[in-house]
Amino acid sequence: MTSQQPEQGNRCPRGVQMTRKRRWRPQHPDAVIVDRSTPWGNPFKVGKPIPPPFTGYKGHAVVPDPAVAVELFELFVRMTPGYIERARAELAGRDLADWCPLDQPCHRDVLLAIANEPEVPSLRQSEPQTGDEPARQAGDVEEKETVLV
Ligand SMILES: [Zn+2]
Repeated sequence: MTSQQPEQGNRCPRGVQMTRKRRWRPQHPDAVIVDRSTPWGNPFKVGKPIPPPFTGYKGHAVVPDPAVAVELFELFVRMTPGYIERARAELAGRDLADWCPLDQPCHRDVLLAIANEPEVPSLRQSEPQTGDEPARQAGDVEEKETVLV
C-alpha cells in the first residue's frame, strides 16, 4: 500500500482565479494552470454542442451553462481510463488556476476533488495490469517481488 500524503501542513489545495487585471502568479507560485490551453481544460464549453457520448445530456443540444459544463466534465473524467490516476499524480496538493470566478461552477473544483480524494475504490479493480503476471493459483508460494527503484 502506498499512502501518499500530499498535505503540506494544514493548508488545503484551493482554486485560484487567474486574471489579466493584476498579477496573480506571485501569490500562487505553485498553482497548476488547468485552463483550455492545458491538458486539464474542460472540453465542454458553454454554448457549444455536447459531443458524444453525452449528446442530448438532460435534453440539451448545447452546453447551457457552467454548471452543466462541470457536470459533463465530471462524467467525462470518471469514464476516461487513467484520468483520475493522472490527476492524482500531477495535481494532488496543488492549487489549481482557471479563469472562472471562484463563486461560479468550474471544472477546477472537480479536479481539486478527484486529485485530493483519499481513495477511488471502484477504479482499483479495473486498473489494467501491465506486465505478464502469471495467474495465481491457490496454494502458490507467495513470491516477493524485487522492486528496482
Ligand atoms: Zn473554469
